[in-house]
Amino acid sequence: MVVPANAALIGGLIEACHQAIAANADHLSELDRAIGDGDHGTNMRRGFEAVYAERDRLAHLPLPKALEEIGLTLVMSIGGAAGPLYGTLLMEIGRQMAGDADFARVLERAIDAVARRGRAGAGDKTLLDVLYPVHAEVVRRAGLTGIADEAERAASLTFGMKAMRGRAGFLGERSIGHIDPGAKSCALLTAAICRFLEEQGPA
Ligand code: ADP
Ligand code: MG
Repeated sequence: MVVPANAALIGGLIEACHQAIAANADHLSELDRAIGDGDHGTNMRRGFEAVYAERDRLAHLPLPKALEEIGLTLVMSIGGAAGPLYGTLLMEIGRQMAGDADFARVLERAIDAVARRGRAGAGDKTLLDVLYPVHAEVVRRAGLTGIADEAERAASLTFGMKAMRGRAGFLGERSIGHIDPGAKSCALLTAAICRFLEEQGPA
C-alpha cells in the first residue's frame, strides 16, 4: 500500500522538473546551438512532457519504481545523447534506492553508471560536471539551498572547459567559452528539485 504522501512527493517532483524544463527549453537549445546541434531544449521538453503525461500513474508507484519508470520514459522520449544519460541516472537511482537507504551511495552508483554509459569523466564538459559536485554536496550534507547553488555554480564552470565528449567534443578548443547545455539542464533540474523539497519542509 502506497501512502498518499508518496504520491504527492512523486507528482510534485515531476511537476517541478517539467516546469523547470518548459520555462528554460529555449535557453537550453540556444546553448546547444553554440556548441552542438541546437536541440537540447526540444529534446528535454519532449522527455519531460512524456513523463508529465504519465504523472498520475507514476505517482502511485513506490518511489524507487517510479524513478526507474521515469528513467525509462526519458530514454525513450528525450533521444539524442542526453536521453540515455538522464535515463540511466534515473533508472539507476531507482534500482539502487530499492536496496540501499543511503542516498549519497545511491547517487554515487547512479553517477558512475552515467559516466560508464557516456565514457566520460570529470572535466569533460558534460552533465557529469554538475552531477559530481552535487554528489559531493550530498555527501557533506549541505542543505538543499547549498546543493542548488553548487549545481548552478558547477554549470557555470563548464564555460571555461574544453569539451571531450558528444557533439561539442568535435569542436575542440572552440567549445571553450560556452556553457554546456547538458550541465545547464542538470543544474536547472537539481535546483527545481531542491526548491520543491525545501517547500515540503522537514520530513
Ligand atoms: P545531442 O548531442 O545528441 O544533440 P543533446 O543536445 O540533447 O544531445 O544533449 C547534449 C548534452 O549531452 C551535452 O551538453 C552533454 O552534457 C551531454 N553529453 C553528450 N555526450 C555525452 C557523453 N558521452 N557523456 C556525458 N554527457 C554527454
Ligand atoms: Mg543537441
